[in-house]
Amino acid sequence: MKILSIGDHPDLQQTVIGNDTRFRFHCHPEVPCFGQCCHNLRLLLYPYDVLRLKQRLKMDSEAFLDRHTISQVYPNDPFPEVLLRMKEEVGDPCPFLSAEGCSVYEDRPDTCRMFPLDRGLEFDDQGRSRLRYFFRPPAFCRGIDTDRSWNIDEWILDQKADLHAEMTEKWAAVRMLFHQWGDAGVVGRGAREKEIVRMAFLAAYNIDAFRTFVFESTFLKRFHIPSSLLRRSKTDDVSLLRIGMAWIRWLLTGVGSPDLRYNR
Ligand code: SF4
Ligand code: SF4
Repeated sequence: MKILSIGDHPDLQQTVIGNDTRFRFHCHPEVPCFGQCCHNLRLLLYPYDVLRLKQRLKMDSEAFLDRHTISQVYPNDPFPEVLLRMKEEVGDPCPFLSAEGCSVYEDRPDTCRMFPLDRGLEFDDQGRSRLRYFFRPPAFCRGIDTDRSWNIDEWILDQKADLHAEMTEKWAAVRMLFHQWGDAGVVGRGAREKEIVRMAFLAAYNIDAFRTFVFESTFLKRFHIPSSLLRRSKTDDVSLLRIGMAWIRWLLTGVGSPDLRYNR
């Protein structure tokens, strides 16, 4: 059994909760710790997070990546992690933290949205996955001093996190393929593998550049995409990201999907 954490949890198993568990939480501007959790973070950004934030900031995806992210590569993992770049100020605050709180609240990343919950995908030996939730408020968080309580579904609904949940889960399954690739010793092997990582990064994170690639290269001669999805993807970033994730799967496994078939 292997757990792919979507966050970074040394004590995952101790904090797993199910939907029958209720947890107490209420965060509001009057808590003494207001904004404390938005400093000095190792905040992973998933493809849908980047898409929402670059739209919010009216930036091109490449400009957003350059300005607001750093990429980190780890041993045995061919695909880089994308992290939000903290401000170079005392306390390393999030660049989106203002005196009033989160300045990108409606488009905040999945990790912030689900906090104090986090998600992980647990994989069995056959590669089947199961979603797991963890309740892990930091020790300084006073949001737990409340009578308001939630279960997981109520929290997702309240935080408007359902599309984030779907897209993050899809992405975690793709990341698991890269982990398996890493476990098989493919990391850094050769020019072809490096090119796959480069193209996968383009499709997942640099969505505006990926749109140019899809519509201005031979891509559409080589791959069949259902016409309604293709039409939407000309202007809709989420539709294009769905194509991108299907394409990455094909790059890694050679297997198509309802969203993308290879034209033989
Ligand atoms: S994006 Fe918003 S909620 Fe998330 S760390 Fe930054 S300021 Fe805090
Ligand atoms: S530490 Fe907890 S209660 Fe305090 S601002 Fe962050 S989420 Fe809210």
